[in-house]
Amino acid sequence: MKSYHSLIDGQEYVSPAQEFFPDFNPRLAEQTHLIAQSTTEDVNVAVAAAARASIEWGKLRPLLRGRALHKISQLIMDHKENLARMESINTGKPPATAIREIAIAAEYFEFFGNLTSQSAGDLIDIGEGSHCFNRREPYGVVGVITPWNLPLNQLARSVAAALAAGNTVVVKPSEHTSASTLELVKLIFEANILPSGVLNVITGAGATGSALASHKDIAKVSFTGSVATGKKVGAICAEAVKPVTLELGGKSPNIVLADVDLEQAVAGCVKGFTSNAGQVCIAGTRIYVHASIYEQFKELLVKQLKTLDQSADNWAPIITGQQYQKVLDFISEGEKEGLNVLYKSDNADVPQKGWYVPRVVFEVANERNCISANEIFGHVAALTPYEDIEDCLELANDTEFGLAAGIWGNNLNQIYHLVANLDAGQIFVNGYFAGGVENPLGGFKESGLGKEKGIEAYMNYQRSKNVVISLAL
Ligand code: NAD
Repeated sequence: MKSYHSLIDGQEYVSPAQEFFPDFNPRLAEQTHLIAQSTTEDVNVAVAAAARASIEWGKLRPLLRGRALHKISQLIMDHKENLARMESINTGKPPATAIREIAIAAEYFEFFGNLTSQSAGDLIDIGEGSHCFNRREPYGVVGVITPWNLPLNQLARSVAAALAAGNTVVVKPSEHTSASTLELVKLIFEANILPSGVLNVITGAGATGSALASHKDIAKVSFTGSVATGKKVGAICAEAVKPVTLELGGKSPNIVLADVDLEQAVAGCVKGFTSNAGQVCIAGTRIYVHASIYEQFKELLVKQLKTLDQSADNWAPIITGQQYQKVLDFISEGEKEGLNVLYKSDNADVPQKGWYVPRVVFEVANERNCISANEIFGHVAALTPYEDIEDCLELANDTEFGLAAGIWGNNLNQIYHLVANLDAGQIFVNGYFAGGVENPLGGFKESGLGKEKGIEAYMNYQRSKNVVISLAL
């Protein structure tokens, strides 16, 4: 069985501790690789390499940094089939889905590569006799901690932005999906695109992530993962007064107005909670439908879910045995709470091998139940009718999360009212998951702090220094 090690300073790094943990293919529920468990000393080695490299990389002409990022983008596209195969083994997701995610990973490097030569600061007019400006500078070494649901995609969105902004990076991938990250970074090393130490990968689980976030030479942290872990990482950074971007969980509402194109809305709501088996932070797992079209909506929803279930290509497994059990437990709890099960995939349709769970839709009256209140991270949705838009808004905002929201309909007044009053960092109107690498993402409330993606993210990876030069005129 293949063993994977960290990648530091342009080469494979074998931890003296020689400890490993297993990695699984969730499609088969079988062990595939061994991944090295890094110690705090290993983290120190990775951060030291990144700190050495940051002196040159941060001062390099930005245009040249951009050029390097474009080469990485091209490298990803040149190897997209292989990387997608690896990602598919890592996560169990169908290869076609993995290919799409890999192409987006390449786009992140292209997009952030394009930004490097943009404005590096602003001139501020404070009157004759002074020259005043803001200089934008990289932080130094950024620690990036990623989750498992879209491994290379999430890696690219933070790493490309951090590198473009002139930082060097130590990334700790999820312990469940480290292999594809290591394969990609190995390709980058082999192609000699970046100077040694500019990009490093340290493998390991929570303790390794914690050692990385708290390292004194990590100047900024980018964390993507659950709210519970995000709070721990946030506390580490608060203690050291260290900037941190937290991209955390969600429980996003998808609101269907009375004057909607019903077929389109049902298809969008289905996609919103079933993509990647519901293992998407912005999944639309709370669906609110106007009472006047509720019965028709239900009928179409069941029909579309039945069709979806019958194709093997539409099934993705849950990432780990533990997470699989957690999703099944939520389904049982919902049933025990007496919630009406509108839809549950037929046993015959759910793949029997691997960590697959049925798709389930519960009908609920409000948010006070285990299905509406928790981020389940499986394709389980809560469906609720509403009469009045204000009641719907109140229900939609009645959660500690605030990551994303969807709206379906044509009534501009109602749409604008919802857009202005929903507590969500990203809103999709008539097209769930619309947009690309250009639009910023970042949650409100417990869903996070700061933004990833877009120009806003690039700015977040730099600090601003104000300079006033007094002139003797
Ligand atoms: P997780 O919080 O369990 O783990 C995320 C990462 O943190 C992993 O690399 C893990 O090893 C590391 N980690 C664990 N304990 C740590 C600690 N004490 N200190 C530092 N690092 C630690 O999350 P997960 O299960 O991998 O991912 C699923 C979660 O991520 C969901 O809640 C999902 O909504 C969220 N997510 C959010 C976004 C977003 O953009 N907002 C995107 C993808 C996933």
